[in-house]
Amino acid sequence: MTRFDYKKSLGQNFLKDKNIINKIVNSFNTNNDDLIIEIGPGAGSLTQELVKKNSDVLCFEIDKRLEEFLSKINSNNLKIIYEDFLKINLVDYIDKKYKNIYFIGNLPYYITTAIINKITKETNPKEIIIMIQKEVGQRFMAKPNTKEYNSLSIFLQYNYNISKICDVSKNCFEPIPKVDSVVIKLAKKENINKPKDENKFYKLVSDSFTHKRKNLKNNLKNYDLEKIQEVLSKFNKDLTVRAENLTIDEFIEISNNL
Ligand code: SAM
Repeated sequence: MTRFDYKKSLGQNFLKDKNIINKIVNSFNTNNDDLIIEIGPGAGSLTQELVKKNSDVLCFEIDKRLEEFLSKINSNNLKIIYEDFLKINLVDYIDKKYKNIYFIGNLPYYITTAIINKITKETNPKEIIIMIQKEVGQRFMAKPNTKEYNSLSIFLQYNYNISKICDVSKNCFEPIPKVDSVVIKLAKKENINKPKDENKFYKLVSDSFTHKRKNLKNNLKNYDLEKIQEVLSKFNKDLTVRAENLTIDEFIEISNNL
């Protein structure tokens, strides 16, 4: 890969550590009626192992220059689309015949959230296995009463069981990035405690975190505060709590009573 002109603007830090590649590829099991979608295959270090899994593999790579490397992967279950993943209409590429969809990606850090939003809005994946910046991973997995806990932690944990696959040192990449990474798995929850109105729940959570340092009374001025207080008292809490002190179930209970 020495003669490749890496583009920093595309987050091109390629994974070169075999051990980490194996950990990622072995962290999920698929069948031959499942589809693996890899976002940003780069020079194909993960791709060439993914195609051995016996499922179809569909990749989206923005940089056409990488065709030189990716076209060398000899597999009849691999399809590579040279497009900006964020600009495509995902459903146009996913055949209905597939039973489960698995997303894999060593993502450019600056578009991690946009990519996850797109995946979860446009499809219903069984699992998402992603390499992300360590700090972002901590936020995804954060529990209440910690400073990392935010609305994204809640949206993700409401839908997925999130676990860490492994930490990844910056030395595992070429070129070496500034930050360390973590690989996490988001596995779709089967049975969840659903709010009566999901949109209302999502809005309540996002409004509650508008100003992270402010308490609920200040962030939710336009809501029926009396009703919220009533629910909070069941949990021995009041309107002076901050959003970061509430569990997902407590948010659901509040939204159900509004
Ligand atoms: N998966 C490879 C690996 O682990 O070695 C490459 C990872 S590198 C961090 C990110 C890859 O995503 C690059 O190949 C880059 O060109 C590609 N990429 C960046 N933005 C993209 C986008 N919007 N859509 C598709 N691919 C993108």
